[in-house]
Amino acid sequence: MSVRAGREFLAIPGPTTVPDEVLRAMHRPAIDIYSGPLIEITDRCHADLRRIFGTSGRSYIYIANGHGAWEAALTNTLSRGDKVLVLESGRFAIGWGETASRLGLAVEVLPGDWRRAVDPDAVEARLRADAAHEIKAVLVVQVDTASGVLNDIPAIGRAIAAAGHPALYLVDTIASLGTMPFDMDGWGVDVAVAGSQKGLMSPPGLGFVGTSKRARKVHETADLRTHYWDWTAREGERHYEKYCGTPPEHLLFALRQALDMLFAEGLEVAFERHRLLAGATHAAVERWAEGGDFEFNILVPAERSPSVTPVIMKDSRGPRLLLDYLREKFGVVLGIGLGALGDRAFRIAHMGHVNGPMMLGTLASVEAALVALGIPHGKGGTEAAIRHLGERVAP
Ligand SMILES: *Cc1c(COP(=O)(O)O)cnc(C)c1O
Repeated sequence: MSVRAGREFLAIPGPTTVPDEVLRAMHRPAIDIYSGPLIEITDRCHADLRRIFGTSGRSYIYIANGHGAWEAALTNTLSRGDKVLVLESGRFAIGWGETASRLGLAVEVLPGDWRRAVDPDAVEARLRADAAHEIKAVLVVQVDTASGVLNDIPAIGRAIAAAGHPALYLVDTIASLGTMPFDMDGWGVDVAVAGSQKGLMSPPGLGFVGTSKRARKVHETADLRTHYWDWTAREGERHYEKYCGTPPEHLLFALRQALDMLFAEGLEVAFERHRLLAGATHAAVERWAEGGDFEFNILVPAERSPSVTPVIMKDSRGPRLLLDYLREKFGVVLGIGLGALGDRAFRIAHMGHVNGPMMLGTLASVEAALVALGIPHGKGGTEAAIRHLGERVAP
C-alpha cells in the first residue's frame, strides 16, 4: 500500500520546491547576451539582491553553488597566509573554513556547540586577545543547515565592533536569505554569500555575493584573486564580463521570476510566513518529543532557525527507516542528518516556496509514519501545528 501518487513534496533544506511560475519562466529560447532584455534582467536582479542583502554596496552573481560563493568571498578579500576565524555552530561554517584552508589561509576555529548559537561574548574575547590583528576575517553562518541554529548576526557584529578589531565580517546566508531579515549595512557585515536554491526558490546553480564598501576596498590588495571569481573583472562595461563569460540565461530568467514573486508577496510577509510555518513545525516536534524518543537539536527555542528544524531521533533503528517510509509511502522527502548528527537525526525544511497545506501535510505524514512504524511519540503533534496556525493567522 502507498499514498504517494502525484507530486512529491521535497522537504529537504535545499534544493527547495521550485514554483511552477519559475519553471515556466525558463521555458523559452536563448537570447542575445550582448544586448536586449538580458541586460535589464541582470541589472534588476542585482538591484533586488542588494535590497534583500540590505546593502548599498556592489553585488556579484556567479554560475556556482554555495561552495562557489564561499570561494568568491574569500579569494576577493584575503591574501595567502592570512588568518581567518571560523565561528563553529554546525557543519557549514566549518566547511567554509575547510575551503579557506585549501586556499592557503590559516584557519582558527572558535569552538562552538552544535546545539547552541555562537556566543558573541566569546567572539569579542577572542578578538580582544588578538592584539596584533592577525585575524583578517571572521566567518559565520546565519542559519546552519546541519544543526538548525540561528546565529545572532547583529550581536556578533556588535561584538567585533566592541573589540575594536578590524577583521572583515563574512556571513553565509545561503539557508536564510529570503526567509528572514538581513541587513548587511546596518549590521556591519562586509561580505554576505547566498545561493539560488534555498530561500530564493530558484534552481541550484547561482551563487550571490553582497559586499560592503570596505570589503570592495580591501579587495584591491587581496592576492588570492583569480580570474573567474574576481570582482574587478566582473565590473567591466560589457555584459559578458559580468559573468566572466556566457551568462546563465535560463537560471537568470528563473531568478527574475522568483524575485518578482518574493517582492509581490512582500519581504516582510514572506518572513512572517516562515516564522509561522517554523512555529507550526516546532509545535509538532514539541509534542512528539513528549514521548521521549525525539528531541530538538537546538536546545533554546529562540535559537531555532525559521528555515529548517533538525530533530534527533533516539529510536535505535535510526531515522533512515522513517525517511525511507515517508519517501516510498507518502512521497515526502525529509532531509538526512549531517555531520555530527549523521545517523541520529532528520531535518524538516520549511524554506522557500512553502505554505500551510505543504507544511501541515508534511507534519501529518511524519505522524502517520510514526504510527505505521510503531515509533513511540507524544500524541497530537499535527493538532498542535494546526492550532499554532489557527491561533495566529488572523482572518
Ligand atoms: C546549502 C548550504 C551551503 C552549501 O551550498 P551548496 O549550494 O550546496 O554548495 C552552505 N552553507 C549553508 C548554510 C547551506 O545551507
